[in-house]
Amino acid sequence: MIISLKETADKLMAANSLILTAHVNPDGDAIGSCLGLKFMLEKLGKKVRVLIDDDLPKFLSVLPGIDTIEKPENESYEADYLVILDASLDRVGSVIEKCKAPRLNIDHHRTNDKKADFLYLDAKRAATCEIIYELGKEMGVEFDINSATSIYTGLATDSGYFRYSNTTPHTMRAAAELMETGIRPEKISEAIETKDFDVVQGMAKALQTIELHADGRVAGLFLDHELTESLDTTEGFIDQVRVIDGVDVAILLKAVEPEACRVSMRSKKTDVAKIAESLGGGGHIRAAGCTIEKPFSQAKTDILKVIEESLAE
Ligand code: AMP
Ligand code: MN
Ligand code: MN
Repeated sequence: MIISLKETADKLMAANSLILTAHVNPDGDAIGSCLGLKFMLEKLGKKVRVLIDDDLPKFLSVLPGIDTIEKPENESYEADYLVILDASLDRVGSVIEKCKAPRLNIDHHRTNDKKADFLYLDAKRAATCEIIYELGKEMGVEFDINSATSIYTGLATDSGYFRYSNTTPHTMRAAAELMETGIRPEKISEAIETKDFDVVQGMAKALQTIELHADGRVAGLFLDHELTESLDTTEGFIDQVRVIDGVDVAILLKAVEPEACRVSMRSKKTDVAKIAESLGGGGHIRAAGCTIEKPFSQAKTDILKVIEESLAE
């Protein structure tokens, strides 16, 4: 059932205990929205746990409360609601089987599968954290350094630090209001962008795989299984590809297993959410992803074919 922002706030306020979760392969928006909402709900006296069925990226270790996030280990978890943030129900791993509470889904992905018991979806928002900010206002919770740091992190990371086309005046106003708590954007971005030497070396290796296709309108990094295994992270690598002059669609393909490749796409003109959706994934018009259950070279051939057939005029 689709519900309004107010109905979402009412449900959260009426609950006593909540389990929050977000997508596997979590990013700043997934973790930022879980922690931001957790801090606000705790202020309202709720019992809140955050479960994420994956390892957390190191670049988010600066976030307050990150060490309270648990991996689902028990067989079952009880709560008044399971709140699924920044994803559809099929992208949260084992949490969905382990917690049978009514599913309250809060998301900004146009490709949301709408399978939750209750869904608040606003695809105009740059980040799920932008909705969490609105929920804070709706619930009448005052932002503090902890909630503001978490929410700001999701706003900043999903909007490319307020540079991508999903950035709106509303995104900027939300960020401005969060700054009133005393958070410092330069400190947050510096903490998030600081990389180990090995990661920069890994990026140098990955960048050597760069290829241009479709007369320079498509560019990609293609990381086979061996190279993928040698890298700690590929966070931000695709941004080096998106900036190439004349490139519409940027791809990062990595063989996470011998027979499974994760694909990230960014675009200037082409609707990549549509391409990702046709391959069982999803996302936004300018940033989307999917997993292709095939070996590296087959997956590479497949994705290039689909993209070349879908390029915008
Ligand atoms: P990424 O390339 O992983 O940064 O993802 C870009 C956007 O697409 C993000 O909003 C993701 O949440 C979304 N996305 C990535 N992979 C998937 C997937 N398999 N299913 C649905 N959405 C995805
Ligand atoms: Mn996300
Ligand atoms: Mn997001």
